[in-house]
Amino acid sequence: MRRTISFALGFWFVTGFLPTAVASDQSVDDDHPLLVAALANRVAAAACSLGESERDHALLPATRADALPDGYAPPDLVPIASAGVPQRGSQQLRAIVIPDVLDMTQAAQSDGVPLFVSSGYRSYAVQVSTYRYWVGLRGLEAADRVSARPGHSQHQLGIAIDFNFGSLGGFTTSPAGLWLWDHAQEYGFVFPYTLASIARTGYIFEPWHVRWVSRELSMLMWQEEYQYSETLAADDYVALARSVLLEGSASATTACERVLSAT
Ligand SMILES: [Zn+2]
Repeated sequence: MRRTISFALGFWFVTGFLPTAVASDQSVDDDHPLLVAALANRVAAAACSLGESERDHALLPATRADALPDGYAPPDLVPIASAGVPQRGSQQLRAIVIPDVLDMTQAAQSDGVPLFVSSGYRSYAVQVSTYRYWVGLRGLEAADRVSARPGHSQHQLGIAIDFNFGSLGGFTTSPAGLWLWDHAQEYGFVFPYTLASIARTGYIFEPWHVRWVSRELSMLMWQEEYQYSETLAADDYVALARSVLLEGSASATTACERVLSAT
């Protein structure tokens, strides 16, 4: 099944815009909940809500295989303390994320759940130290499962957050962990590293780590149950969305006009 879906996604990337069918000799399994061609249309529409410039920021790939552009730094970093977002330390995030993270932490607080940012933006240089720390603690192989190599961290994008890191050991079943798992999608956040996607991402389950993708895209992904998919992890949707905004390269607006007029 994985090979078939990968092929279908590959077909989408190679052939370009809004495929209406996959190759007839390798069909998507009938019992699979995701029909890639139909999904591409809806991901495209959701991604267009982000705006043209986000193809070079919020939708940049940062995975084990894909590094960020050399020297990448987000354009609109702000200290989150000034926005009233609960935190430990002196965290920064991109301004574009602040309204959603503020809404989310306030909603959690209203439900009696303390949710605070324990790690937001991390520069390349900080990630060098972070990765070295894990290599020193656990060795290279284990470090690669819990820490991104410098240049590959989503924290360098300024849109990824680790919540409540102090409670790492029991986060999954803690009130904060349970609340975040149930509600993150309502505020534009998704979980790149799920139990189901361990083999695909190469990282352990990190229920404290979320990536912002916009509410439109996070709700679509949640409705597709990406959290439980071994085949399409969160970053696969991000890659699909990015490919839409890159279509034609010269003008993402043109790509989005085509998408929105077709839906
Ligand atoms: Zn993280």
